[in-house]
Amino acid sequence: MLLHDAGSHLAGLEIGGTKLVAARAYGRAIAERVTIPTTTPEATLHAARELLARWHASEALAAIGIAAFGPVRIDRAAPDYGHVLATPKPGWEGADLLAGLSGFGVPFALDTDVNAAALAEMSLGAGQGCDSLIYITIGTGIGGGVVVGGRPAHGRLHPELGHMMLGREAGDDFAGICPFHGDCIEGLVSGPALHARLGADPAAVAAGDPRWETVAGDLARLIANLMLTLSPQRIVIGGGVGLGQRAMVQGAARKVPALLAGYLPDIDDDAMARIVVPPVLGHDAGPLGAILLAERAASCETGAQV
Ligand code: ADP
Ligand code: ZN
Repeated sequence: MLLHDAGSHLAGLEIGGTKLVAARAYGRAIAERVTIPTTTPEATLHAARELLARWHASEALAAIGIAAFGPVRIDRAAPDYGHVLATPKPGWEGADLLAGLSGFGVPFALDTDVNAAALAEMSLGAGQGCDSLIYITIGTGIGGGVVVGGRPAHGRLHPELGHMMLGREAGDDFAGICPFHGDCIEGLVSGPALHARLGADPAAVAAGDPRWETVAGDLARLIANLMLTLSPQRIVIGGGVGLGQRAMVQGAARKVPALLAGYLPDIDDDAMARIVVPPVLGHDAGPLGAILLAERAASCETGAQV
C-alpha cells in the first residue's frame, strides 16, 4: 500500500508534559490539529480517545501513531507495553497510554516524542536525504531521539542520551543538577543546569560571555560521543537552549574536530557545520512524527492490529 500517494487517513498523538497535540492527516498532509491540555492521565487520554473516535467515525482511520514523553515502555512484548515509567510528572507514572485504543481495530505504533521528532526531521525537515539522524532537544531536560538506517532506535528501553556521563572540561567543578547522576550532560547543560551554573537566566547571559566556552565544551563532548557511537549523518539540536544559544551550539560543533583528533575521516569545521543543524519543523515535528509513526504502523510489520 503506497500510503502517502494514496493519502491514507492517519491520526497522530503527541503526548507532551504540558499539552497533547492530536493531528489528523491525509498521507503526510495535516488536515486538522487539536490541542488538549495535559492534566491527569484519565482526563487527557479520555479526551484524546473521544477525538480519535470522532475522526474514525467520520472516516475510517488507517492507523494511529503515538509519540509520548518518556520514559515509556515501547517494547511490544513487555507486559507493561505502553505504560509510562518513572516520571516526575505527578500522576503519570504507570499510566497506560494505549488503554482503550484496542476498540478502534486499527494498527497503531508507539514511540518516544523525540524518536518521532527525529523521524519527522529526517523525512520532512533538516535531515532529508539522510537515513541516520539524532534529534536533541536541550530545554528543561535533554531528550534525544535516534534514527539509524531509517528506523527509530530502541531495544531494552529507548535512547536516554541526555543522561550520558561524559568527561569534564579541565578546571570546571560545577557539580551538576541531575538528581540521578549530578554531572551527566543534562545535569550540566539543560536550561535549569545553566541557570544554576551561570547564576542567572541563561537567556540573559550574553553570547560572548566566556562561560559559554565551558558549556560548549560539554556539549562538544556529547556530540563527539554520539558521532563515535551512532555515526549519524545529521545531529539536529533544538529546544529552548539549543535554539536560544545558537552561537554556543555552533561553538560546540567547532570543538569536535579537535576532540576527535583526526580519528574520524573528513571531520573538519565545514563537515561539522553540515552535521550539526537546527530543526526546521518547529512545533510540527511532534505531530508530524506521530503521523509518520502511524504511516509506518499501517505499512510495515511493526504495526499490530488491535
Ligand atoms: P521544555 O524543555 O520544557 O519543552 P523548552 O525547550 O522551551 O521547554 O526549554 C525551556 C528551557 O530553555 C528553560 O530552562 C529556559 O531557561 C531555557 N531557555 C529558553 N530560552 C533560552 C535562551 N535564549 N538561552 C538559554 N536558555 C534558554
Ligand atoms: Zn542524569
